[in-house]
Amino acid sequence: MPSHQSPFRQTNLEDREPLPPDPISEVRNQEVVRCLKQVIEPTLKNDIISLGMVRNLRVVEGYIYLRLYIGRHQHDLQTEIQQILAPLTWCKKTYIQVCTIPGVKTTLAISSGKGGVGKSTTSVNLAVALSLQGFKVGLLDADVYGPNVPQMLGLGRAEVKVIETSNGQKFLPLEAYGIKVMSVGLLAEPEHPLAWRGPVLHKIVTQFIHDVEWGELDYLLIDLPPGTGDAQITIVQESPICGVLLVTTPQQVAVSDVRRSIHMFRRVGIPVLGIIENMSYLICSKCGEHTPIFGSGGGKQLSMELHAPLLGQIPIDPLLCNGGDTGAPLTLVNPDSTVGQVFVQMAGAIATTFGD
Ligand code: ADP
Repeated sequence: MPSHQSPFRQTNLEDREPLPPDPISEVRNQEVVRCLKQVIEPTLKNDIISLGMVRNLRVVEGYIYLRLYIGRHQHDLQTEIQQILAPLTWCKKTYIQVCTIPGVKTTLAISSGKGGVGKSTTSVNLAVALSLQGFKVGLLDADVYGPNVPQMLGLGRAEVKVIETSNGQKFLPLEAYGIKVMSVGLLAEPEHPLAWRGPVLHKIVTQFIHDVEWGELDYLLIDLPPGTGDAQITIVQESPICGVLLVTTPQQVAVSDVRRSIHMFRRVGIPVLGIIENMSYLICSKCGEHTPIFGSGGGKQLSMELHAPLLGQIPIDPLLCNGGDTGAPLTLVNPDSTVGQVFVQMAGAIATTFGD
């Protein structure tokens, strides 16, 4: 039987012999969930279970163990949890492990079902749009398969510094256009693909979440690797992600990959904030007509089917591609362009959702 002395060290529970089902703990577990559903996060006006803030909940011999994933402004929830669980007569003690990224208020992930749909382009331009609205923004490029955020922000092959802090050694993020940036690509050899796998990949990805000295941030955007592989699941499970934005293109294949991703996020309890459809249409430079060259309606169809709002539709624009190649994001260079406006509006919607 696990000891209540070290509730959070048992990371490899799944490797052990499965414990026989314990009906009492099962019933108590459900009771705890019912109580926690009464704890409402005041800004998002939803309960902490539905928001995916409580994970790894276990009840063992009258002890409750849980992980609470929060931003820097949500520490009061701990007290509320203790208070709401206190009346449970069988509960000897509740252990809460707070999982947070120091200094960071809201962490959002940007994901896609597959590569090449414009996930990094979206992450960079959304970071710029949030920054233009006066927020302190960080961008963590965790796309181990194609970390191209530094290039898109004109950072080239800058050196990452490691600094000593009171909490040990930390990576110091770089800065571009006022956005703090950290990327797995900055640790790789130029022209060498990142071939990390298994435990090494897990370690590097975990370090990226916990060992960066971000300072105070309103928003940390995490550019996830595409798909639903190991790296993506590790990042999602290890970080206090408040929600995921899913990028897709309108074609059927891209849409079905996104469907798989959405199910994965829902299985691990992370809210999907919405879908962003990229390359939705081409604007004719002569007459302004919109041509949906990759088909149309994919994003809308997904949005309806999966009950996730369609947050924005980004047109195909060579200037957006060019901005990525030259390290000068279009939303920064021309926020009034059609593309720039889509990002500005999405940033506004995010700020409204998170009460900023
Ligand atoms: P991902 O991160 O999903 O792999 P990227 O953001 O790297 O995709 O985009 C892939 C390529 O497509 C890049 O060259 C990018 O500049 C280009 N691109 C993405 N979105 C658009 C768009 N709406 N219009 C024109 N080019 C785009």
